[in-house]
Amino acid sequence: MRFDNSNKTPRHHIIIGGGIVGLATALTLRLSGNDVTLLERDAPGHGASLGNAGTFATYAVSPLAKPSLLRQTPYLLSARDSPFHLRWRHLPRLTPWLLRFITEARPARVKHNVEHLTYLMARANDDWQRLLDAADAESLVTRLGCLYTFQTEAAWVQAVHEHDTLAWSGIHYQVLNAKQTADLEPALAGKVKGSIWYPDAGHVADPLILCERLRQTFEALGGTLHASNEVQRLSPQETGVVVNTSTEQKICDHAIITAGIDTPRLANTLGDRMPLEAERGYHLEYPMASPLLQRPCCIAEYGFYMTPMVGRLRVAGTVELSRASDPANPARYRYLERAMDSLFPELGAPSSHWMGCRPSLPDTLPIISSSAHTRRVHYGIGHGHLGLTLAATTGALIEADIHNQAPPWLAALSIDRFR
Ligand SMILES: Cc1cc2nc3c(=O)[nH]c(=O)nc-3n(C[C@H](O)[C@H](O)[C@H](O)COP(=O)(O)OP(=O)(O)OC[C@H]3O[C@@H](n4cnc5c(N)ncnc54)[C@H](O)[C@@H]3O)c2cc1C
Repeated sequence: MRFDNSNKTPRHHIIIGGGIVGLATALTLRLSGNDVTLLERDAPGHGASLGNAGTFATYAVSPLAKPSLLRQTPYLLSARDSPFHLRWRHLPRLTPWLLRFITEARPARVKHNVEHLTYLMARANDDWQRLLDAADAESLVTRLGCLYTFQTEAAWVQAVHEHDTLAWSGIHYQVLNAKQTADLEPALAGKVKGSIWYPDAGHVADPLILCERLRQTFEALGGTLHASNEVQRLSPQETGVVVNTSTEQKICDHAIITAGIDTPRLANTLGDRMPLEAERGYHLEYPMASPLLQRPCCIAEYGFYMTPMVGRLRVAGTVELSRASDPANPARYRYLERAMDSLFPELGAPSSHWMGCRPSLPDTLPIISSSAHTRRVHYGIGHGHLGLTLAATTGALIEADIHNQAPPWLAALSIDRFR
């Protein structure tokens, strides 16, 4: 492996948090010849990045905050079988996030957010390719696209209409009727009214194995990992940053915070504020020797994906607004189980259950920027539903920003938008 440090002076960087975003950032910076230390509180890849739906969702340029979602909210909040759940007792704490979410649904903000998601998505596959090549991990990725399917004709027609208005973003999609959908995925015959197919999307055989492959490559290339090492405080100085963990003190040129949902605690030590909340998601897994589906299939009305992974089908999704530290809500597992029973009763009971916290900002855009107070600390956080898809791009953009080579549009992803 040759390092590419052609136009950059190597520096010592500390990455805080070894989820998919931290791992991708650590490997990106190491590939450029930097001295990189990754500090992880637990084990790399075991946070939100462990249990996701595994989809490289490069088509997802439509933000969550938009008028159509606000119109559906009364139904989503009141229906017994809803993919959305709000823990009412946390409403006072969630209110600032929710108010900003509503503000972001104004047409001008939706346009702005689509535009910036489009910038990110346009390069996501290329940024990932560099890391997949370095980690010899291309075999973990299947490129058969992704299907967004609909149980009712009305929902399908509405989605097609929304896609027409997104045509300018350049995402590739095809509208398929029920028969065309079943031609692509025979297991869905008779189960959906239509779908939208995103042929450029891919999926990973197992998100944890991908994290593991990035970690191995990072270490094999001379990167340093300190697991079971929680960072407690950062103190920027003129010439570097002092990073204090539970056991030691380290000094680096730049610190990069990729600590997912736990970021605000560290950000507070720097005086940075952000409206980061947990959109908790759930998954079930059904073991199977041969795959039921070839590609991730989202059942839009149910709010989850069914993704074929090694030796199993993972059913992952739904949104629960709650406190990150609350225990998993058994009712959310039952919701997924009932939905799967109605779709594929032959699958029987799932073999495993999982809940994780998407670190989400109310405008569906991540923060990829330096701290509001120092250029020596950067954030790569708040990827919500898109952390796997955008991890490699986040690492590449942070590196560009450290070297003052970021594209002008990155300014819109700054932490300053929440001041
Ligand atoms: C059900 C579900 C389905 C999803 N499906 C998809 C999908 O198909 N495609 C997609 O792109 N995205 C998907 N996502 C979103 C994606 O999983 C997340 O956006 C992504 O995992 C966030 O990664 P992260 O690295 O920011 O956070 P995490 O994976 O949570 O990593 C943060 C890490 O920081 C560590 N940490 C925290 N504080 C400290 C500290 N003080 N010191 C040291 N370490 C610390 C934690 O231990 C953790 O390992 C899904 C999410 C869920 C829940």
